[in-house]
Amino acid sequence: MMQAGYEAVIGLEVHVQLLTRSKMFCACENRYGGEPNSRTCPVCLALPGALPVVNDEAIKMAIALGLGIHGTIRQCSTFYRKQYFYPDLPKGYQITQGPVAVVEDGWLEIPGDPLARGTGGPVRAGIERAHLEEDSGKSSHDGKVSLVDLNRAGVPLLEIVGRPDLRSPQEASDYLKALHRLVTCLGICDGNMEEGSFRCDANVSVRKAGATGFGTRVEVKNINSFRNVKLALEFEISRQIELLERGETFGQETRGWDAATGETRAQRSKEAAMDYRYFPEPDLPPLTITNEEIEMVRSRMPELPEARKARFMTQYGVTDYEAGMLLQDRPFADGFEVVAQVSGNGKQAANWMLGEVSRALNERGGLLPELGLDLAHLGELIGLLEARTVNLNTAKETIFPALLRGEGPPQALVERLGLAQVSDRGAIDALVREVLAVNTAQAAQLKAGNEKLRGFLVGQIMKAGQGKVNPQLVAEALQAAIHG
Ligand SMILES: [Zn+2]
Repeated sequence: MMQAGYEAVIGLEVHVQLLTRSKMFCACENRYGGEPNSRTCPVCLALPGALPVVNDEAIKMAIALGLGIHGTIRQCSTFYRKQYFYPDLPKGYQITQGPVAVVEDGWLEIPGDPLARGTGGPVRAGIERAHLEEDSGKSSHDGKVSLVDLNRAGVPLLEIVGRPDLRSPQEASDYLKALHRLVTCLGICDGNMEEGSFRCDANVSVRKAGATGFGTRVEVKNINSFRNVKLALEFEISRQIELLERGETFGQETRGWDAATGETRAQRSKEAAMDYRYFPEPDLPPLTITNEEIEMVRSRMPELPEARKARFMTQYGVTDYEAGMLLQDRPFADGFEVVAQVSGNGKQAANWMLGEVSRALNERGGLLPELGLDLAHLGELIGLLEARTVNLNTAKETIFPALLRGEGPPQALVERLGLAQVSDRGAIDALVREVLAVNTAQAAQLKAGNEKLRGFLVGQIMKAGQGKVNPQLVAEALQAAIHG
């Protein structure tokens, strides 16, 4: 929680690995992992005389992002060499876009944080630019030995540079989620934060509330989850406020987030930042994009998260909050639509997706398709509930776990396992008599007006009926037996 009298100013830089088939400047396959250095060629190994060629698919993906953030697509931009030495950068420079980026001046809508702004309502968080560049390889260190794997060297990256428009760790987390939803919806990134295909650095400073100038900016690196962006910024903001309160000054610096200790740690000071000696890449012509190319990408754009959210609310009757949760990623949103359509009940489909399905996902990790749940079967289960063929207890405790194990359509499970809901009033009356006979004291108390006993007795009756009895009829039968 922000200390009174201060305001945080936050801007995020997000590196998005593009889901192209090949790397940014060569024909090597673009895929995570694999035997080290198995996906390399003279271009990404930087062998003498090898020449880069721009990946057309990466350009189309950058255009799609640009359209998705309501940005300007530059019809002429340039690639530069950013020189620095690093063992996992074999050329001795990175090819990246220069002062003019392929995408400029966009925005994303996020829910404003009323605690930070004093008022609620959506806010437009500006995006200064999105530029194309190449990823580096990976070094690993084992005792005295250092190894380098260049499979990632040359993988296309889109760096999306946000403006310092965010005012709290919550807004930073919401911005990151909105961007994640957009890139996964566009299909330009798999969004896998653990594997590093969606990575975030945060620039943060604090200033006295009401001030217009900026405080000293600190860059926090290595943020690899939505939760960590909040934790890292909360830590860093408190740290900076404490320094200011003590009257200490501090310089611009880069700090790393350590999720294990929950702290940011100094990495290097920005004053000593090196001069990258940028100059235009002589081996690549300026990048030109025609209107036809832009329109072609536009015509193939999927429904974007904002539009889809509005449609979920009108078509399926879900709330703004539910729609936001359902759109957490594209497979989850697609899955919800399957369940909603098969069951014909959007509201219940949302309840199940955000309830039982989310719980199972949280336990096992990963995205919806990895759960192995047949979504049409879940839709059918909701139908069985609606038709009162089974009760909610049986659906949640017995049938849903069986669906997760892939044990077949719910109707067949109901028949095979004898799970049909008991709605025979005669049978239920018999159960009620049985339970009241062994719980005479509780029955007497309920009759005397102690309503607390009702839930207990209903529970006993449900148990006696092996959880399969119709709870509404149980309530009616109990009422009749006590007061009838
Ligand atoms: Zn290559």
